[in-house]
Amino acid sequence: MLAKIINGKEISSEIREELRLEVSDLKNKGIIPGLGVILVGDDPASKSYVSAKERACESIGIYSDDNRYSNDISEKELIDKIITMNNDPKIDGILVQLPLPKHINSSNILLSIDPKKDVDGFHPVNIGKMMIGEESFLPCTPHGIIQLLQRCNIKTSGSHVVVIGRSNIVGKPVANLLMQKGNQANATVTLCHTGTKDLSFHTKQADIIIAASGQPNTLTSDMVKNGVVIIDVGVNRISDRDKKSGYRLVGDVDFNGLSEIASAITPVPGGVGPMTITMLLYNTVMSAKKR
Ligand code: NAP
Repeated sequence: MLAKIINGKEISSEIREELRLEVSDLKNKGIIPGLGVILVGDDPASKSYVSAKERACESIGIYSDDNRYSNDISEKELIDKIITMNNDPKIDGILVQLPLPKHINSSNILLSIDPKKDVDGFHPVNIGKMMIGEESFLPCTPHGIIQLLQRCNIKTSGSHVVVIGRSNIVGKPVANLLMQKGNQANATVTLCHTGTKDLSFHTKQADIIIAASGQPNTLTSDMVKNGVVIIDVGVNRISDRDKKSGYRLVGDVDFNGLSEIASAITPVPGGVGPMTITMLLYNTVMSAKKR
C-alpha cells in the first residue's frame, strides 16, 4: 500500500479562506478581530514563530498588536500588560509565546489571561471545559489534528486511536478530544508514554496513531498494522550537511517506511504544523464573533 499524503498546507489554506470570509463579514459589522501578541527575549525560534503567526493574521485581515520585551521584564510587568489587554475591547485573543525566561512563572502568566481571550486554549478553565465536553477554546495543535482527520474523512468513531506522548499541549488534549462522545470523536483511545512497557504491542492494534514524542523514529513500520493512519506531530532538527541551514526537519515517525504500509500519513513539514497557526486564527475569529 502506498499511503495517501495528508496535505496540511492545503487543508490549512482551505480553512484560512473560510476564516477570511468570516473576517470580512465581521468588518462589515464594524468589528476587526484583534490578536495581542507578547514575545519576551530574542530566541530565534520564538521570533520566527511569532512572525509567522503575525503574517498569518495579516493574510486574513486580523489585526495583530505586537508587543516585544527584553529578557529582563519582570513577571509583574508582564501580568500588568496582560491585564491591560484583557480589558482592551479591540483585543479578542492574547498569545504569549512560550517558553518564557526562567525568572517568570509561565503558569502565573497563563492564569492571568482572561479565559475568554485565551486563544491558545491553555488556561485551566478552557482545559476543564474541554474535558467535560463544554464549548471552549481548544488548544491549537490538537484541534488542528481533529480538523485534518475530519476534512480527510477519516472516521474516528469506533476506531482505536493510539496517542504517543502525554504533554499538556498535545498528547493529553488530543486524547481527550478524541474520546469525547459524538460522531466527530467517539474513539477508543490508548495513551502511551515513556512508562509504557511495550509500545509496539499497543501501536500494532491501532487504526490511527498520533505521534507526539519529540523523538525521531519513535514509530517504525514493524510497529503498525496495514492500513493504519499516521498523524506525525513531531518537529525535530536533524543535522544535514547538504542543506544550506545545516539541518533538516523530520517528524517522530519513519515517514518512508510507514508510507509503504499506512493508508494515510502526514508529512513533516507540511502536515500538522500549518494547522496549528490556522487554529489560532480560528479561535481569534470565534472570539471576535462573540464581541
Ligand atoms: P514533550 O512535552 O517533550 O512530550 C513528549 C511526550 O512523549 C512525553 O509525554 C514523553 O513521555 C513521550 N515520549 C518521549 N519519547 C517516547 C517514547 N520513546 N515512547 C513513548 N513516549 C515517549 O513534547 P510535545 O510538546 O508534546 O511535542 C511533541 C513533538 O511535537 C515535538 O517534536 C514538538 O516539536 C512537536 N510539536 C509540534 C507542533 C506543531 O505545530 N507541529 C506543536 C507542538 C509540538 P513522558 O511523559 O513519560 O516523558
